Amino acid sequence: RERERVAAGTGPGVTADGHAVPLLLNIGSARDLRPDAEGVGLFRTEFLFLDRAGAPTFEEQVAAYTVVLRALPGRRVVVRTLDAGSDKPLPFLGLPDEENPALGVRGLRTARRDPGVLDTQLRAIAEAHRACEADTWVMAPMVSTVAEAAGFAAKARAHGLPTVGVMIEVPAAALHAERVLREVDFLSIGTNDLGQYTFAADRQHGDLADLLDPWQPALLHLVKLCGDAGRAAGKPVGVCGEAAADPLLAPVLVGLGMTSLSMSAPAVPAVRASLSERTLGSCQERAAAALAAAGPSAAREAVTTSTR
Ligand code: PEP
Ligand code: MG
Repeated sequence: RERERVAAGTGPGVTADGHAVPLLLNIGSARDLRPDAEGVGLFRTEFLFLDRAGAPTFEEQVAAYTVVLRALPGRRVVVRTLDAGSDKPLPFLGLPDEENPALGVRGLRTARRDPGVLDTQLRAIAEAHRACEADTWVMAPMVSTVAEAAGFAAKARAHGLPTVGVMIEVPAAALHAERVLREVDFLSIGTNDLGQYTFAADRQHGDLADLLDPWQPALLHLVKLCGDAGRAAGKPVGVCGEAAADPLLAPVLVGLGMTSLSMSAPAVPAVRASLSERTLGSCQERAAAALAAAGPSAAREAVTTSTR
């Protein structure tokens, strides 16, 4: 029956030996939802803020968050606070032009200049959460330090949000995953930015695609640090970057300790099928093989030829 279910492309993510690995959706708005989703692992809230002269009002935000939270009653919805700057410019924030926007005031850092936008957003998420009795998780993008994680967690909790986490997108935060996890309830690794910052390679630069390959063993090493920290703390650690959508890489990520994977809806069936064919032990062997490889191609090769 399990096989039939997987072949039909439905149901939860689970390894061949029964370890649940929730397969969550990356969404940009309610339109990206699927009624059978296990939950949402990354709700990018930028859409509300794009193409407009000013920030959306508290009421507008409550309405937009409520639509998503209502759609998946009892299921996890991870709302990411505004990730502005760099590849996601937002004119109304009045951020000055920067020589190096990817290394500038972006993500959570925008709250240094204008804490009001984040404050209103957290208040709106909390209001929608109360109205829906949803399993609302909230996380901040572009966190670099333990202090930033603690500061964000304090603000989110002051608004009554019960489950607070941060994205791991900066190597410094991955290196201190254990300390960061003392301050928050979960981690979500954004491999797109984590790759960019680990390899000092612009994520939009086509010529550098080899450096941005999510199979880079150094990137996987940082993922492992986060997975180990999660296991030690007994707290969830997932991936919500593009890496999670690769059916061959997904078992490696699970072997590195990821407790959930989040991706766009079209990627879910192949990842589900891939996990269903492997035991947790096989995922761990694949993870060890990928970590030990000399580069991304060798890592792929090692995992493809792995017999289990
Ligand atoms: C990431 O950086 O991997 C991520 C999921 O966030 P975004 O792609 O929105 O920057
Ligand atoms: Mg990112």
